[in-house]
Amino acid sequence: MSRYLGPKCKQCRREGMKLFLKGSKCEGKCTLDKRPKPPGMKQRFRGKLSDYGLQLREKQKVRRIYGVLEKQFRIYIEKAGKMKGVKGENLLSILERRLDNVVFRLGMGASRNAARQIVKHGMVKVNGHKVDIPSFLVKQEDIIEINENDKNKKIFQEYQERFEENRVPKWLNLNLKALRATVVNLPVREDIQIEIQEQLIVEFYSR
Ligand code: ZN
Repeated sequence: MSRYLGPKCKQCRREGMKLFLKGSKCEGKCTLDKRPKPPGMKQRFRGKLSDYGLQLREKQKVRRIYGVLEKQFRIYIEKAGKMKGVKGENLLSILERRLDNVVFRLGMGASRNAARQIVKHGMVKVNGHKVDIPSFLVKQEDIIEINENDKNKKIFQEYQERFEENRVPKWLNLNLKALRATVVNLPVREDIQIEIQEQLIVEFYSR
């Protein structure tokens, strides 16, 4: 399955939830507000989803939010099962630790997709080394920093003017002036304020 590149808010309608794939666009003019039914369903009654349908939808929703392909998602599920603790919560923690998500959580990109581009363009260093892989997973005490050469770019100057340090989740510590952040702790379930029923995803993969 390839990455979906069609209208972003069509995906909001598909999932029945604002996914904020294009940043704040969903706050103002998300098509979900005007047309709450899933795309392609016209006005017909959709019918109740089966257990399988619910699990599938939840899995697809989370995959879309984080912009992860199926193959990678399966790898995360396996990894989550090998970790201590609750599998579904481990899965969310892994997704949050992706470097593109971290850059998004630091407010440097308006969406995860924008943050992914920042990483792909090689503007981010982890512990002093350039990392241009969006799926790179950060660890506790990692230091994430914008490259010296990129620090005076317009996007980061604007970011420094509009962003407030206290808006980052508590597992990250941001030094806005230095464009540098530290992973204080690994993210846990309560750090992730998205409406997700991760247990359904675990059930989907244990069928
Ligand atoms: Zn939307």
